[in-house]
Amino acid sequence: MATVRARYPQLVQLDDPPSIVGHRCLRCRRTAFPPDPYGCEQCGADAEQLEPIPLSASGTIGAVVTVHRHHNPRPETPFTVATIVLDDGPVLKGRLDGDISEARVGARVVGVLVPWETDEEGTEVVDLAFRLVEGPADRGGR
Ligand SMILES: [Zn+2]
Repeated sequence: MATVRARYPQLVQLDDPPSIVGHRCLRCRRTAFPPDPYGCEQCGADAEQLEPIPLSASGTIGAVVTVHRHHNPRPETPFTVATIVLDDGPVLKGRLDGDISEARVGARVVGVLVPWETDEEGTEVVDLAFRLVEGPADRGGR
């Protein structure tokens, strides 16, 4: 069996479907991503007051742009990046994968794991990307 790990294991859980690691403030209930080591941005509670929670990797595109030039060799250009308003609240930026011809503000997306590289030990490294879906995404029974 091949070994697989996430490119950013502190931020992505390799569930099926994959989920995003966020946190919730025990004092004011604010949900945030990425987890903040300094405490709650809203109420000022200490970091000990933040509990990690899995966030559904589904949401709606808030903005979308295709990148034609950038300073890193990977991902290869052109690629498309979107601001995604997660169904669980936080907003993040993610790369779109698959057919992006219908990528527009308001379109529904879900997280998918895409190959990134194979490391020195032969471990397959996967990264979270987002694919367009039609209609409301399945929220995994939450
Ligand atoms: Zn708080």
